[in-house]
Amino acid sequence: MILLQNAEVYAPQHLGRRDVLVAGGKITAIAAHLDPPPSSWRVEVVDLQGRALIPGLIDAHTHLAGGGGEAGAATRVPSVQLTHLTLAGVTTAIGLLGTDARTRSIAELLACARGLSELGFNALCYTGSYEVPTTTLTGSVRGDIVHIDRIVACGEVALSDHRSSQPTFDELIKLAAECHVAGMMTGKAGLLHLHMGDGKRGLSLVNRALDETELPPRTFHPTHVNRQKWLWQDAKALARRGCTVDATAFPADDESLSAGQAMADWLDSDLPRDRLTVSSDGGGCLPTFDGDGVLLHMDVGRSAAILEEIRGLCAAGRRLEDLLPFVTSNVAKLFRLAQKGRIAVGADADLVVLSEALQVVDVLVGGQWFVREQSAVRRGLFEHSETR
Ligand SMILES: [Zn+2]
Repeated sequence: MILLQNAEVYAPQHLGRRDVLVAGGKITAIAAHLDPPPSSWRVEVVDLQGRALIPGLIDAHTHLAGGGGEAGAATRVPSVQLTHLTLAGVTTAIGLLGTDARTRSIAELLACARGLSELGFNALCYTGSYEVPTTTLTGSVRGDIVHIDRIVACGEVALSDHRSSQPTFDELIKLAAECHVAGMMTGKAGLLHLHMGDGKRGLSLVNRALDETELPPRTFHPTHVNRQKWLWQDAKALARRGCTVDATAFPADDESLSAGQAMADWLDSDLPRDRLTVSSDGGGCLPTFDGDGVLLHMDVGRSAAILEEIRGLCAAGRRLEDLLPFVTSNVAKLFRLAQKGRIAVGADADLVVLSEALQVVDVLVGGQWFVREQSAVRRGLFEHSETR
């Protein structure tokens, strides 16, 4: 048991100063004051002295097995290590393959997620990759979601990108149908997570699917929608039709919006606040290509970029409680993770303590300490001692 005293709780809505009791991996009590249990009960009491306590971030787009490989085998990004996530305040990661489903596989991705879970972390994954027909483990998307506990959705399937399989409309809607029905059968997310490229076709196939099929809008979850300003406008229009869209916390250029700009623009619009999520592309490559598809520059996505964007917005006067839903409760709602993304009695004790400057100080995952005083106290077997 852990009693967190004097926490400034963002649930993600701002609850004010609260004591929070954690037991058996769950949040079991929240009140203005909680008396410590009797000393014969083993309980750790931690006075947070007014520091912010927020739900652990849910990063729904992390290349747990590593992404890349688009400019040769030397550009394959290594797998994501535990502290890369926890030191970034991420307590749930949903892993995915990217361009490369030839030298990488769903089996490898699943093993990475399982490895993180063995360390006590929350790791789920998508089946599939950029490619259509889709890479799977059991032979079908529906089978992977139905039969494999940790697989909750399909993605990232590439659209409007020179690296895509140029999927047809029929291929896209069949894939979305597999996701939707598998989600119904299991109570899992059942989404088609779509990597959006820079191509001018943009979201046209998704809009056509909404026009011509019975598939619910929630089935389509396009990501990287902030990579082009015009695509961002189209994504907002898609959200008005019921889809939740995902902005990526990558470095912005003249043509794109940063995730911070995207969040601010969303808050300043009259769009439903729960239809935007933000993810990191952690472990993924962030390449820049010229018009012939030749690689000009390569960077790697970092989970820490999510909180960096939020920090920047708060420094500019935005309220933390307005921003947190994009990376906590909105993601949990879309992915049907009822115990995640909020601070409430009965929810999982995935919690992050932030300093006044909104730096990650402490992290609990499932009621276990992973970070204390900005230092990782749990690491993967092959990670060296690492502090921020
Ligand atoms: Zn992508």
